Amino acid sequence: ILPAVFLSQVPLKVGRMCYSSSVPTTKLFIDGKFVESKTSEWLDIHNPATNEVISRVPKATQEEMLAAVDSCSRAFRSWSETSILARQQVFLRYQQLIKDNIKELAKAITVEQGKTLADAEGDVFRGLQVVEHACSITSLMLGETLPSITKDMDTYTYRLPLGVCAGIAPFNFPAMIPLWMFPMGMVCGNTYLLKPSERVPSCAMLLVKMMQDAGAPDGTLNVIHGQHAAVNFICDHPAIKAISFVGSNQAGEYIYERGSKNGKRVQSNMGAKNHGVVMPDANKENTLNQLVGAAFGAAGQRCMALSTAILVGEARSWLPELVERSKALRVNAGDQPGADVGPLISPQAKERVCSLIQSGVDEGAKLLLDGRNVNVKGYEHGNFVGPTIIGNVTPAMKCYSEEIFGPVLVVLEADTLDDAISLVNSNPYGNGTAIFTTNGATARKYTHEVDVGQVGVNVPIPVPLPMFSFTGSRGSFRGDTNFYGKQGIQFYTQIKTVTSQWKAEDATLKSPAVTMPT
Ligand code: NAD
Repeated sequence: ILPAVFLSQVPLKVGRMCYSSSVPTTKLFIDGKFVESKTSEWLDIHNPATNEVISRVPKATQEEMLAAVDSCSRAFRSWSETSILARQQVFLRYQQLIKDNIKELAKAITVEQGKTLADAEGDVFRGLQVVEHACSITSLMLGETLPSITKDMDTYTYRLPLGVCAGIAPFNFPAMIPLWMFPMGMVCGNTYLLKPSERVPSCAMLLVKMMQDAGAPDGTLNVIHGQHAAVNFICDHPAIKAISFVGSNQAGEYIYERGSKNGKRVQSNMGAKNHGVVMPDANKENTLNQLVGAAFGAAGQRCMALSTAILVGEARSWLPELVERSKALRVNAGDQPGADVGPLISPQAKERVCSLIQSGVDEGAKLLLDGRNVNVKGYEHGNFVGPTIIGNVTPAMKCYSEEIFGPVLVVLEADTLDDAISLVNSNPYGNGTAIFTTNGATARKYTHEVDVGQVGVNVPIPVPLPMFSFTGSRGSFRGDTNFYGKQGIQFYTQIKTVTSQWKAEDATLKSPAVTMPT
């Protein structure tokens, strides 16, 4: 699936045994070179539509991880001093390279992650938009000035890079999320250590190669692979000044705590339970189609998937039609024409999703559409679950309290808008929500009273464009500055404030000033 520069075949060492292997292995990227890891620990990467092993990824050794950070540290000296126009040029070339290779990137995503090719192109496209925004760094990084704060004295600020920054990425957006990370970090003058998800590294490796082709100097971007040891290394290494994390709450809270304790800036984007509130005055056709698309697209493996519907008042009667439309989606391997819903990432993910569906049944919910036994011809060994809808759900049920991260829509009912708002606000997560209505006053009330960081009005997945920031809140976020946009620039920079005085000769001080200057 990838050019040989990323992949090669090495004998697989397990302890003192050595097996010959025809499975290709993913390389590390250290100091401008794609290098084979010397590790003896490898993880298998599967095609989720077939469960065949397609490649292996190394758990980088301590020595390799140290070499990667040292390379970032050395490169920081010159990259941070490189003119902002030169850094901008690298990203102008980079955005074009991504555009030119969008189909190749999408293929690398689908084979490892499983999503449909069209959806994979969307994954790349939403990351590309962040790169395009990074190209406006010359205005984004401006400081502030205030002349004549007192006689002959001016104050101005510089926005400066931090040093070495690191990104730890999840499996569900193999392009978009790495592209939220290193482009913003590097365009500000930082150097970057990326740890892609060990389940989907190929797209990240292609993106890294394109960074090199765009002119990023050796050492400005390094890549290590691995799991917990690599994450701990990033949290602990003193040269790393900031960590961007996207993934589950379990990992995100741990990384936030460990990284912060070590004095680093950490931003952690985590899990979600996003509610779509359906008012009876909504445009029915539009709303049902939007709900189905946002619940089951990418097999529900999106942090902004609309995984919970609240039907208000008369909108309850729309449920049978919602089920009919969901049934019509085609479940298939992501590279097959017409596929709407691809496989889940792993057999374990499938098992977890199925057991959460069963928990709903056991706790008294009503299974309106059951996708557990879906049969995908030619892909019998894939991790497929078809669209599933669970009705009569209450907040106490496990299928409501846990993030399912699969093609499962849980449906609750409410008598009034106030009841719906109080349900959403009682849920610990705050990533995204949407209201469907044709009434402006209803929409305004919802957007003002709901305690969720990203709100859509007749927009099911309100992921902000990169001139804004991704502002998930409450249980979906730790940190105080968000990803991309102005907040992203703030995260990757620090302020230096200069106060200068240039007096004319005759205004020279005649004696020491020992009181606090006012
Ligand atoms: P994950 O937490 O399993 O993995 C993310 C990264 O953390 C990986 O690089 C992995 O190696 C590392 N990791 C995993 N477990 C760890 C642990 N216990 N300790 C230290 N490091 C660990 O997440 P995932 O399954 O790859 O991604 C799915 C999750 O990500 C979902 O919960 C989803 O909602 C969330 N997500 C959130 C956003 C957002 O912006 N809020 C976006 C995408 C995904």
